Amino acid sequence: MKKNDTIQLKIEDMGVNGEGIGKLDGFTFFVKDAVVGDTIEAKVMKLKKQYGYARLIRVTEPSKVRCEPVCPHARQCGGCQLQALSYEAQLAYKSKKIQNNLIHIGGFSEIEAPEVLGMKDPWRYRNKAQFPFGTDREGNLVTGFYAARSHTIIPCTDCQLGVKENKTILEIIQSHMQKYQIPAYDEVTRRGLVRHVLIRKGFYTKELMVCLILNGRRLKAIEELTSALAAVPGMTSITISVNIEHTNVIMGTEILPVWGQGYITDQIGKISYQISPLSFYQVNPIQTERLYQTALEYAGLTGTETVWDLYCGIGTISLFLAQKAAKVYGVEIIPQAIEDAKKNAERNQITNVTFYTGKAEEILPQKYQTEGIRADVIVVDPPRKGCDLPALETMIHMQPSRIVYVSCDSATLARDLKYLCEHGYEIRKVTGCDLFPWTVHVETVCLLSNRKLKPELSLDMEDYYRIKDAEKEKNKTS
Ligand code: SAH
Repeated sequence: MKKNDTIQLKIEDMGVNGEGIGKLDGFTFFVKDAVVGDTIEAKVMKLKKQYGYARLIRVTEPSKVRCEPVCPHARQCGGCQLQALSYEAQLAYKSKKIQNNLIHIGGFSEIEAPEVLGMKDPWRYRNKAQFPFGTDREGNLVTGFYAARSHTIIPCTDCQLGVKENKTILEIIQSHMQKYQIPAYDEVTRRGLVRHVLIRKGFYTKELMVCLILNGRRLKAIEELTSALAAVPGMTSITISVNIEHTNVIMGTEILPVWGQGYITDQIGKISYQISPLSFYQVNPIQTERLYQTALEYAGLTGTETVWDLYCGIGTISLFLAQKAAKVYGVEIIPQAIEDAKKNAERNQITNVTFYTGKAEEILPQKYQTEGIRADVIVVDPPRKGCDLPALETMIHMQPSRIVYVSCDSATLARDLKYLCEHGYEIRKVTGCDLFPWTVHVETVCLLSNRKLKPELSLDMEDYYRIKDAEKEKNKTS
């Protein structure tokens, strides 16, 4: 077998990036766009010692779980990796992905495949989109999405995962740029002005936010543009984000007000939130509510508990928890998000929450060691890289009766759970929640309980202190 050979493959599995996996003559082949159950013809692109990559030429016998992608750009675009897989099969794929990571990375060999909560209607679920602007080979202004693993822009203003207003807003901005010959930013020459446009919509409130990310501070005839944008029903906030750095990071840190307020509001469950351009807010509000409900249920609060919410963003989970806890402490690294979090507590008249700006791995040890703040329950919802070791170590020292781990990457989740379970905790429940249909991503919520505390799921704090005191006595005498 050699490069450029045409091979026949039966796809038996799918990898973590949604690629089909098949075997031939002892070689494992990875084939993008092939789905489990397909028989395909593919061209060998790259050969390593025991595995290789091949490109799908055609599907000779389609899998029962194959479906026709709704989006014409599905194969080129880097966004949806699973558009050729039926929605039910996607949920099964995600359940297995979580289970595999827990087994192979976490070492939890007995763990069952978790339930993954899916959507009834898995389209147009995203409340946020960031559209890059650029110029095509003919010199035309384009906006859309980056092709997989590249910065080539595929023109597309109406992504099927996004809201319908995206198209209207992008067309207004594009025609304004054409009228005044405002150039898109060029990543190579670092010239040009418009880098990205961020659009957010509050699904509950119907409020819209537009943030223009510019390689500069000013845009020609901005009043004309804003009055056109302001006419879109729901428009609430128009801002400029200044980003003059040579970077892949989309947003600049400075936000200039242009029209309306600097934020939009939305509601999840009974809580209303204010969201600024720089703040993290889950992109799928319908599923977020189910995710937070699951986290809240796992936290098992009775009203007497002290709870920490690490990586709290704008306080979304903190405020959910605060309704049922005695006291909640939230920690988040982005100052603007903490500003939002504080306003959100006020807005909902929730007074039993304190927010700290800083790194979870620094604030938690500091508050525990210097102020002795304890925890009955710790909720964590870290970014993809998971929790830093000092945060995990402090959690172990604090000995909460429960830890609820919300994760957007089940590989780092598995790594962190391994550490926590080697230090006295055990997995009680795992549920997946599909916040990102048609992509390979999935959120996972996991409940851990403290093995030392018996009965294991008791929330009775008297029990907790009796055991802790007994342990202290034992340590003194030994
Ligand atoms: N729980 C929130 C946010 C989760 S996303 C929600 O559901 O909306 C993860 C958050 O962690 C982001 O807001 C990010 O800014 C924050 N973050 C990243 N690294 C951090 C760190 N080291 N310490 C504290 N927060 C961090």
